[in-house]
Amino acid sequence: MTKSVGFAAQAEDKPLEHFSFQRREVGENDVHIDILFCGVCHSDLHLARNEWGGTIYPIVPGHEIVGKVRKVGSNVSKYREGDTVGVGCMVDSCRHCTNCDDGYEQYCDNGFVATYNSEEKQTNGITYGGYSDQIVVDQDFVLRVDDSLDLAGVAPLLCAGITTYSPLRHWGVGKGHKVAVVGLGGLGHVGVKIAKAMGAQVTMITTSESKVSDAKRLGADAVIISRNEDEMKAARNTFDFILNTVAVPHDLDAYANLLRRDGTMTLVGIPAEPHPSPSVGVLIGKRRSIAGSLIGGIAETQEMLDFCAEHGITADIEMIDMQDINDAYERMLKSDVKYRFVIDMKSLA
Ligand code: NAP
Ligand code: ZN
Ligand code: ZN
Repeated sequence: MTKSVGFAAQAEDKPLEHFSFQRREVGENDVHIDILFCGVCHSDLHLARNEWGGTIYPIVPGHEIVGKVRKVGSNVSKYREGDTVGVGCMVDSCRHCTNCDDGYEQYCDNGFVATYNSEEKQTNGITYGGYSDQIVVDQDFVLRVDDSLDLAGVAPLLCAGITTYSPLRHWGVGKGHKVAVVGLGGLGHVGVKIAKAMGAQVTMITTSESKVSDAKRLGADAVIISRNEDEMKAARNTFDFILNTVAVPHDLDAYANLLRRDGTMTLVGIPAEPHPSPSVGVLIGKRRSIAGSLIGGIAETQEMLDFCAEHGITADIEMIDMQDINDAYERMLKSDVKYRFVIDMKSLA
């Protein structure tokens, strides 16, 4: 066991605070990683505050991890000491169900092991995430990272990147498609960049007038302010695909109405309370679909990292110290982040 330090919430109404714990012994298939950077995902906040139920305290959030390999187990062939690597939302799965066999570990029939707040198979303890100085992960759930990139900007790709890349790929987004991304936050800003790099014509739909020029700088061809009824009306029946990243319950019809015939809106945001139901009329009126998508598989995550490296895509980040995490959560709730907080783990030392 190795002594590790991080930040944890001890209860749903408590701020995150300094926390000492043990990382497991490095097993033969394990990679021991010194964490350099960890992105701050809205899911971290949902879970730290038990907004989805099922949070196990103390909780050490963080699943957008980039670091350097300190040590590897005797069976590890994929990584060596000194390599730059990433860890995303999963650290294991059953590896034998049809979904795991197909490379969709995120849909594992037996439940994947999340990077934090899951039962750790090796110890029967609870997994602790990336708001910490180090982590031990099975080599099959570790990703290769090109260390010529801005590594702090790469960290958010491990969740925000794959969560947007996977549905864009699955629904075949590319040249000639009109795509809208709803919500210019952590997921949304990476989603715009990826959809654009895939060749689509991209519109950003935001509640924040102040983000219009940023949306264009990030690659959006057009921007719609969702509070502006005229702009929303003018965009009716125009999009092939909508990626909806909004983290709170809202009127889905307002966005579904923007889909053209046979269009799909995929929800990736996970509000604590349900959305008001979509109207059947809005769906049948143009044979529209509303779907959902969860992160992405390990092979697909590697594919996404390679795609982003090739296209020069990293997240636009605001670097924070670990001690600033509670303020960062409050700012995230106000949509006041441009566009992802990333924790510099040097601040833990
Ligand atoms: P975030 O940075 O807080 O971004 C969410 C954005 O939604 C905000 O920046 C804001 O953008 C927009 N928004 C906020 N309130 C709104 C409202 N009332 N109506 C419409 N838009 C609103 O969060 P994130 O980290 O991107 O995560 C987004 C959601 O995805 C969270 O629920 C998270 O848990 C979930 N998530 C899901 C997966 C998955 O696998 N499915 C993976 C990661 C995260 P504007 O200012 O532009 O309006
Ligand atoms: Zn996440
Ligand atoms: Zn499985």
